[in-house]
Amino acid sequence: MAKQPFACGECNRILPDPENKKDPVNCKWCPNAPVTTDWQGYVIILNPERSEVAKRLNIEDPGAYALKVNIR
Ligand SMILES: [Zn+2]
Repeated sequence: MAKQPFACGECNRILPDPENKKDPVNCKWCPNAPVTTDWQGYVIILNPERSEVAKRLNIEDPGAYALKVNIR
């Protein structure tokens, strides 16, 4: 099974692995936000303006998101 990807603690986006695996993962939309592999609920938002989940999470851009991100 593949390693759990990182998610952003601020915008909940699922973050792609960096091209160089040694680079730290960070969110390009909120670079100072904490990131973690401790998250639950993978959702893909295609139409944020028509999605209840997107409204609840304050998501404005289509993409892959975690429903819940556990930031310590
Ligand atoms: Zn972010």
